Amino acid sequence: MKWHTLAVHAGTEPDPLTGAVMVPVYFTSTYAQEAPGVHKGYEYSRTHNPTRTALEMALAQLEGASYALAFASGLAATDAVLRLLSPGDHVLVSRDLYGGTYRIMRRVFEPWGLSFDFVDTTDVAQVESAFRPETRLLWVETPSNPLLHVSPIPALADVAHQRGAKLVVDNTFATPYLQNPLEMEADIVVHSATKYLGGHSDVVMGAIMLNREEDYHRLRFLQNAVGAVPGPMDCFLVLRGIKTLPLRMQKHCENAQKVAEFLATHPKVARVYYPGLLTHPQYLLAKQQMRLPGGMVSFEIPVQDPEDLRGFWESLQVFTLAESLGGVESLVNHPATMTHASIPEEERRTLGITPGLLRLSVGIEDSEDLIIDLQSALQRV
Ligand SMILES: *Cc1c(COP(=O)(O)O)cnc(C)c1O
Repeated sequence: MKWHTLAVHAGTEPDPLTGAVMVPVYFTSTYAQEAPGVHKGYEYSRTHNPTRTALEMALAQLEGASYALAFASGLAATDAVLRLLSPGDHVLVSRDLYGGTYRIMRRVFEPWGLSFDFVDTTDVAQVESAFRPETRLLWVETPSNPLLHVSPIPALADVAHQRGAKLVVDNTFATPYLQNPLEMEADIVVHSATKYLGGHSDVVMGAIMLNREEDYHRLRFLQNAVGAVPGPMDCFLVLRGIKTLPLRMQKHCENAQKVAEFLATHPKVARVYYPGLLTHPQYLLAKQQMRLPGGMVSFEIPVQDPEDLRGFWESLQVFTLAESLGGVESLVNHPATMTHASIPEEERRTLGITPGLLRLSVGIEDSEDLIIDLQSALQRV
């Protein structure tokens, strides 16, 4: 099935009872049993809920995976994957990544007994030399947050597998429409469905997709045993969002390309990070492993004090200053004080998360309005 067809039909079939075209929202915590243990496959909604089942089927199909699991948030999904490990295990992680992923690793799982090293995953040789005998996972975010670095998934999968480790890819920024890590030999894909999969900034959710049965059973066990599951209404919203994922992503990418090209020529902008620009260090790699370069654009205005950006925020009419990304509306985020504030300042600076770095989630509005908005705001810097 081609992408636009798949997105509309994945996971959904007319309801056998009524013919309802859209999957009903099963607001129920429990299910009647004919006799003890005799039921229709549903016992209790932490374990299974039909709306969630439909969503999980859709998510698996989108990533071309054998299995998918939905969680209450992207971080709950991350938590479940890290629980596959045991104290003493070591994890290699992309240096530039979502601040909350950094925080759960450093402040939840390090005290629990895992150890983490943060490396530049765009550089396969560097990753290779950072492996230890106890390294079990290589955790890669590509494109990365907020600097849009692109890491080579097939080469990293090779390196991990040669050393008996698994490759996890956080595919949130790319979405399954732009990039399918499992087809490039990654072992596990993690998503914050809060972002493009939901697509309308109205739900928080996470997902895991994978092919390996043994890991799936353990993750399914953890999903039920720990209990960080999404409710049926949230599942319905993401299922609805998925239907327009290809359409939205095409427009996000088209607008992001135009915005990035505009910023690249602006005299007040020192640097633009966008995998669709020829100046991006992994431009060719992005072309190889992604269908399109995505809807996220970061750029740098050379200021030392975030206060100097006040005029910029105040002028914006279409862009909203907010955390998060991937919704239909355009957002601007200041990583140093917002999404990446939990990374120590020293580390932020070495990564390139400077006081003048701004990250745009380019929405699906008219690109001319977006560019005019940025142009007027830049005049106030
Ligand atoms: C938002 C985000 C997460 C965390 O997801 P939540 O749904 O907020 O818990 C993880 N990874 C990336 C890349 C994200 O953008």
